[in-house]
Amino acid sequence: MIMNPNRRLFLRGGKPLPIRPPWAVEENDFLKRCNRCGACLAHCPQRILDSDWLGYPMVNFGKGGCTFCGACVQECSEQALVMQSGVPPWQHKAVFSEACLNGQGIPCRTCGEQCDSSAIIFQPSPGGRILPQLVAAECNGCGACQAVCPVQAVSMLA
Ligand code: SF4
Ligand code: SF4
Ligand code: SF4
Repeated sequence: MIMNPNRRLFLRGGKPLPIRPPWAVEENDFLKRCNRCGACLAHCPQRILDSDWLGYPMVNFGKGGCTFCGACVQECSEQALVMQSGVPPWQHKAVFSEACLNGQGIPCRTCGEQCDSSAIIFQPSPGGRILPQLVAAECNGCGACQAVCPVQAVSMLA
């Protein structure tokens, strides 16, 4: 059965939308254009692309970060991924949860050390704890900080 793309969205029933590969067109257009061929998955050198529950490609930052190499875009014959000058690859950025080890008095700087953009700084909070903070303007959403966190305290949110 072929489903209307809007119905597919509805069927997700409140689940957060998967993060599409970089430079994906708007979600409804993406679902119309992508034919689920899997070419982007097969050609990502970082191996961070998986299929979602309907077979569409999504980024799995649990496997690593995106280098913005553009290989997935080049392989997309359906114009579901379109790199345009001046258009950022996506909008999401890193967020940190209460699970961060620093909040429990265990020093950790792993995510900050992984960030090539220097977008994570560690500053004392009012309670005296030194927690990771995002310099949002510097974060490109590459996700390199997520997989390296030993307690899964990093996620990517739009
Ligand atoms: S830009 Fe490169 S590293 Fe990022 S998802 Fe596409 S193929 Fe993978
Ligand atoms: S890697 Fe995880 S535990 Fe370590 S500072 Fe970053 S968010 Fe906290
Ligand atoms: S998503 Fe990338 S740029 Fe943003 S804080 Fe994490 S490592 Fe740095």
